[in-house]
Amino acid sequence: MLGLAESFYSIQGEGTWTGTPAVFVRLAGCNLNCRFCDTDFSLRAFASVESVVARVSELGGSCPTVILTGGEPLAQRESSALIDALRADGRRVHVESNGSVAVDLPPDVWLTVSPKERLDPRMAARANEVKLIVDGRVPSEWLEAFAGRDVPTFLQPEGNKPANVALAIDAAKASPGRLRLGLQTHKFIGVR
Ligand code: SF4
Repeated sequence: MLGLAESFYSIQGEGTWTGTPAVFVRLAGCNLNCRFCDTDFSLRAFASVESVVARVSELGGSCPTVILTGGEPLAQRESSALIDALRADGRRVHVESNGSVAVDLPPDVWLTVSPKERLDPRMAARANEVKLIVDGRVPSEWLEAFAGRDVPTFLQPEGNKPANVALAIDAAKASPGRLRLGLQTHKFIGVR
C-alpha cells in the first residue's frame, strides 16, 4: 500500500513545466528532516496503486501530467509500481525528489531533483532539472554533482523572501549560462 498525504488537480507552479495543468499526488513521509521544510506530508490515508490511478482519473480526467511529490515519493516501496501503472494508464509522470533514494526510472519520467542533506550520484545523473533552495545562502556545494549535465538549474528562494531572492538573482547573474531564478509562482496567485 502507498501512504498518501493528499492529491489534487492544479497547475505546476515551479520549474520547467510552470503553468502546466497536472494532478498532484503527494505521498506521505520523508527520509530527510530539513529545518526549512514547510510541506505537510503527514500520512492521511493508505491506498492501493490501482486506487491512486483511479483517483488521478477522477481528479484530472484526461490531464496527461501527474506529479508525484512528497515528502520523498521515492522513499515508498511501491512508488515504482505506481509510476508504471500511471504510465500504463497513459499519463506522463513527473517525480519531485530530494535525490537521496536511488530508483531506476523509465526514460520518459521527468525527474526534478532538489538535493538537501545528501544526494545519490545516480539520481544526480538522472535528473532532468535541478532545484536548489536558497535559504540565507546559495547551496552551491551541490553544483559539482551536476557538472557536465545540460539541465536547467533553478535557484529557488525559500519562502520567496526578498533577501533570498536577492541572493538567487546575484548567483544567477554570476553564472548566467548555468543558473536561473526559480519562483514558486503558485504562491503569488494563491493556488496550491
Ligand atoms: S527533503 Fe523536502 S520534503 Fe523532505 S524534509 Fe526536506 S524539504 Fe521537506
